[in-house]
Amino acid sequence: MIIDVHTHIIPKHLPDFTKQFGYGDFIKLEHHQPGKAWMMQGDKRFREILANCWDAEIRIEEMKQHGIDKQVICTIPVMFSYNAKPQDCLLISEFLNDDIAATVSQYPDKFIGLATVPMQDTKLAVKELERSMKIGFKGVQIGSNINNINLNDERFFDFYAACESLNAAILIHPWQMMGQEHMTKYWLPWLVGMPAEISRAACSMIFGGVFERFKKLKVCFAHGGGSLLPTLGRIEHGWECRPDLVAIDNKHNPKEYLGKFWVDSHVCDTEMLEYTVKKCGANKVMQGSDYPFPLGEAIPGELVHKTPLSDKDKELVFFGAAKEWLNL
Ligand SMILES: [Zn+2]
Repeated sequence: MIIDVHTHIIPKHLPDFTKQFGYGDFIKLEHHQPGKAWMMQGDKRFREILANCWDAEIRIEEMKQHGIDKQVICTIPVMFSYNAKPQDCLLISEFLNDDIAATVSQYPDKFIGLATVPMQDTKLAVKELERSMKIGFKGVQIGSNINNINLNDERFFDFYAACESLNAAILIHPWQMMGQEHMTKYWLPWLVGMPAEISRAACSMIFGGVFERFKKLKVCFAHGGGSLLPTLGRIEHGWECRPDLVAIDNKHNPKEYLGKFWVDSHVCDTEMLEYTVKKCGANKVMQGSDYPFPLGEAIPGELVHKTPLSDKDKELVFFGAAKEWLNL
């Protein structure tokens, strides 16, 4: 059994939210060829997507080719819309979540849903999380920052409490990468900014004491935890040498949190995946491909197959770790 915990999906057709709300640059889809669409942000082409981004049957066919039994599906982060008016974001979230719920209910043995919620308004976020969990979602995907507010902010505590009480998994996904306006060339927001965003999210939650306050929170950091693991020695050293700056809200060593959160396997390097498993434990590393995007794993599962891990560890990465995270 192989579960791919990190894949993205979008409805085939999106309403014209910009027109509907009368402001903003909400994503629209322009189907310009059979099986191909441009995601448009205003007049700007954000990304071209293929039918496997919206068509469940094509996805199931590709899963068969790749040997993936189940996909965890969630929206594309550019759809989060945290900078919209809260009620408008709720509306978008409901639309996206209802589409995912319909796919899951049509193919319950192929797909598991993670919801999206209006994180800019904690009350509405909790409301949509509760509704989503009621209609069969297993958790929620949120951004690595919420309009540049870090994830340790007290305003999110009621949301974390709701996730705990509903036993909802949380996937933390990089988006709105810090400094992207200063590094437009070479795709640096994706190559440098995304890993940094995940470390930003993880360090904020660790140093902010979020995992102390919410001990049952089931967080997965995407992309193997980004630059967190490769720089954890430095992070620990900073905690040791300048506790006056670092350890002001949580006295625990950041390394104590290894094994308490999950990460996905999408690190694109067998040695790095071995290291990740060694540091976090195979029961906290999950197959995640970022399907169906070019920067994702071209053949989901291939990296784990290729990495010299024991059969027992591979079984955990492919299934066991996700079973606990998703409460299956
Ligand atoms: Zn992703």
